[in-house]
Amino acid sequence: MGELTTCNSCGSELDNLSQADCPVCDELSVPKGAICDSCDNPAEFQINGSPTCESCHESAYPID
Ligand SMILES: [Zn+2]
Ligand SMILES: [Zn+2]
Repeated sequence: MGELTTCNSCGSELDNLSQADCPVCDELSVPKGAICDSCDNPAEFQINGSPTCESCHESAYPID
């Protein structure tokens, strides 16, 4: 069995990552009032530390 951890905050399964490193929580921890880096919509996610709105986030992570 591998060392799978489940994030307490978002429930994502993390592979040997501490909760502080959860990439899902990182993406969702956007500062209040932040504006998307790529357009002028309110940001709802973070990609690599850049505030990103929902539609730009979908473009960055296309759903199969
Ligand atoms: Zn998480
Ligand atoms: Zn945007």
